[in-house]
Amino acid sequence: MNDCLFCKIIAGQIPSPILYQDEAVVVLRDINPQAPLHLLIIPKKHIASLNDLSDADDALVGLMVRRAAAIAKEHGYDEPGYRTVFNTNRDAGQTVFHIHLHLLAGRSLAWPPG
Ligand code: AMP
Ligand code: ZN
Repeated sequence: MNDCLFCKIIAGQIPSPILYQDEAVVVLRDINPQAPLHLLIIPKKHIASLNDLSDADDALVGLMVRRAAAIAKEHGYDEPGYRTVFNTNRDAGQTVFHIHLHLLAGRSLAWPPG
């Protein structure tokens, strides 16, 4: 996608430290962290929001969730816990229209969210 921030980062057009990548996803540190650990698990494939997922993306979404769990465990947050969030469209405050799974950990997270 021409004007997508995350596609530009994935393509190397915007320099950004990449914590992890494989053939399907990249993992970045959120630039405006909301918890001591706040990472974004981002598919290399451009998908604007969860509303745009198709059957063909089922495995990709599974990989994203499993990667988040693996990273949380690597940081020792599997037992204390962590939150994984997809924001979709206006009411959820989505600002980057390329799906990304937030991984937040390292503090007690309120529920319900704001
Ligand atoms: P969302 O509101 O769910 O669309 O989340 C977008 C997230 O991307 C926000 O938490 C931003 O802080 C984060 N973000 C925006 N630009 C960058 C960037 N260049 N590198 C890392 N994270 C970013
Ligand atoms: Zn994109």
